[in-house]
This record gives sequence, structure tokens and C-alpha cells, in this order.
Amino acid sequence: MNNLLDITPYNFVIIGCGFVGSVIARKMAERGKKCLIIERRPHIAGNMFDEVDENSILVQRYGPHTFHTDSEEVWDCLKDFGDWRIRDHLDHVEFSSDPLSGRVYHNHPFQDAPIEPVVYPFNFSVIDTLYGDKARELKETLLTHFPCRDRVTITELFNSHNKDIIAFAELLFELDFRPYTSKQWGVDPETLDISVINRVPILLNYGTELVKVTYQRVPKEGFTKVFERMLYHPHIDMLLHTDALDHLRIDNAAATALWDGKPLPKGVTLVYTGAIDELLNYKLGKLPYRSLRFDWQTKYMESYQPGFLVAYPKAEGYTRIVEYKKLLSQYAPGVTTIAIEYPLQAGEGQEPYYPILTADNKKLYEQYRKIVDAVPQMIAAGRLADYKYYDMDLAIERALEVVKAMT
Ligand code: UDP
Repeated sequence: MNNLLDITPYNFVIIGCGFVGSVIARKMAERGKKCLIIERRPHIAGNMFDEVDENSILVQRYGPHTFHTDSEEVWDCLKDFGDWRIRDHLDHVEFSSDPLSGRVYHNHPFQDAPIEPVVYPFNFSVIDTLYGDKARELKETLLTHFPCRDRVTITELFNSHNKDIIAFAELLFELDFRPYTSKQWGVDPETLDISVINRVPILLNYGTELVKVTYQRVPKEGFTKVFERMLYHPHIDMLLHTDALDHLRIDNAAATALWDGKPLPKGVTLVYTGAIDELLNYKLGKLPYRSLRFDWQTKYMESYQPGFLVAYPKAEGYTRIVEYKKLLSQYAPGVTTIAIEYPLQAGEGQEPYYPILTADNKKLYEQYRKIVDAVPQMIAAGRLADYKYYDMDLAIERALEVVKAMT
């Protein structure tokens, strides 16, 4: 029998210390509510966790994250917890000196042997490379077809009813989106929700901005520090390295949550941000999530690759290589840290990262959701609990929505 965990002193018991859990805790604490956060991992900040490594380089242990939003409310929620660097100011820095300029580089997907990386996201320079003499014609066709637009999705290209534009979409899809997506998700790209690949824009100019929003920021000291400050509040307690599911069980027959075998104390609300199928002990079957394995390497050289991130649609096994020194132009003479990302199916011992958004999986998720929604004193929210591919800003929006519904 596990040690019992007394939750009676709290108004909110929040399971998971990523953005959703942390924002809810902070907002509730500010309203005078006592909150306990329970986190299975030994650290705060969820997949935004970063730390300074043995080479004195700030690295993001669960893959690259930069923050962007158009929402004042979301930005207000974070801005006071960090010293933020504005991405826009760096837009015209030479590509190898600062990746936050938006000049994220992409391995050339159109040749068998890697040659010079091409700019990512795809823009007119990619058309120049691909189409040579015919490039001008295609660029003009695109501008005529999509007047006043500076970026489109590959779906829009496919739906354009223009044969040259559709041929261009097919080329991009076959040479990049298909191999990258199959490798990243382990399923046929056609079975995935189209919103996944539509995250990647095709720019109708020579720009390099992946996203175009009001606030694009990177915390100078990293995300972990932002979380530390957010969670530093007299009404927030924290238990790390603690598995809440050792204490929590959903009694399906009665549709109630049991804590250490007893009904939840009156006045306690549970906020669960973990995987929804795990909460219900996989009773309807496993919901598939994609995970990542990182191969961390130290290289004794000034620079390993031309930018912060290079994607490899065709390489065997891995999708991208991230060179963290280039995040925030960090000073580390003669040494650099890289992480090679290998996608894999989440299973025993691997963190679930991404919900795999196929029609079947979404249906299964809905069944789980129905059960959890019927449980009183309990809210399930977040990337894993909602089975949604949230960026940081959307995770924060979701947290704010929960807060509003409860106050
Ligand atoms: N994608 C692709 N080629 C690329 C980059 C992305 O086909 O070079 C697709 C792929 O399916 C990927 C999705 O777009 O999973 C979203 O990419 P993003 O860079 O947003 O992924 P994240 O940084 O969230 O892992």
C-alpha cells in the first residue's frame, strides 16, 4: 500500500506541472485558493523543461520551443515571469548567427545526397531552386491566385484548381511532407488530421518567418525559470517525483473519483493534465501518442550546422537535429551541443508527446472524454487530457478557459 496523501487542506489538486497545470495553479492561488501540484517527473515545466548542460549551454530537454501568440491575455499571463527576448528584432541577422531570426534551415529534400540546406519554411527561394527557369512563372501564378496573401497552407495549394499550383503542392508533399510526416507520426500522412501538416506554411515571398503573430518571444534564462517564478506563491505547494495515479482511481460504476480509496473531500477539485486513457486504466484500449528519443552529443567545434534547427525528411530514423547554442546566440567557444530527434511510439518508459490525430483515435478519445466529464469535482485539460496538438499559447488559453469556468 502506498503512503496516503492528505489533500484535505487544498482547494485544488493539480496533476501535472506543464503549462496548463501551472497556469491554473497560479490563477487560482491569486484568487486565494490553496493548490497542490503533483508531478511524476523530477522537475517542473513539463515538456518546456530546459537546463544548462555540461557545456554551459541552455538546452531544451524535450525538443525546441519558442513562444508565440496573438493573444494579449495569454501574453499577459506570462510576461511578468521572465525576461523575454523579442524575436522580430533579429530578423535580418545572418542565418548562422541567430536562429531566432526565423531562419530555421531545412535539409534540401529534393536531392538524394544532402546539399546546401534550403530555407524553412518553404518560400520563393525554394521555388527558384526547384523550378530554375520556370520559377518566375510559378511565383506569378501563385501571387495572382492568392492576392494579398503572404502565406498559404499546402491544403490551399491542393485545392487551388490550378494545375501548376497543384503540381507544386504534389512535389512538396512527395519530397518533404510525406517522408517527414510518415517518419514523425508512424502513420500514413493521409490518415492524419490535415491540421498537423497545415502547421507548416508556404510563404509567398522570400521571408523566413515560420509564424506571423504579435508576440514571438524566448525567455532569456529559459522556460524552467519562467515556471519557477509562476509557481512561487504562498498558496502553491508542490510534490515532484510523485505519481498521483498511485492515489487516484476513477470508480466507473459510480462515476466518481476516489482518492486513497475514499471519495474526494468536499471542496477539493482535481485538475488532471495527464493522458486520459491512463487515468481510466486503458479500459477502452490505448490511445496512441507519439514520443521522441533524443540522442544528445557534444561536438568540439564552433558550429555544427547552419542554423538552430535542420530538418531531415529523408534520413533514416531521425527527423531533425537541433543545435541549442544557436538558441539565444549562446556564448560557448569551441563547443556545441546537438540533439538528434528520433520519433517513436510512446510506450513504457517514454513520455507521450503528441496525440496521433487520426479519425479512429479521435473517436476513442471522445469515449474516454465522456466518462471523465461525468466525474464530479474533476476537470481534465491539456495536450494529453484533451488529446490535442496544442502549442504553448493554446495550452495557456485552455488553462484560462478552465479558470474562467471555475470562477
Ligand atoms: N512537417 C513536415 N516537414 C517538415 C516539417 C514539418 O512534413 O519539414 C509536418 C510534420 O507532419 C510535422 C508537422 O508538419 O509533424 C508539424 O511540424 P512542427 O514543426 O510544427 O512540429 P513540432 O515542432 O510541433 O514537433
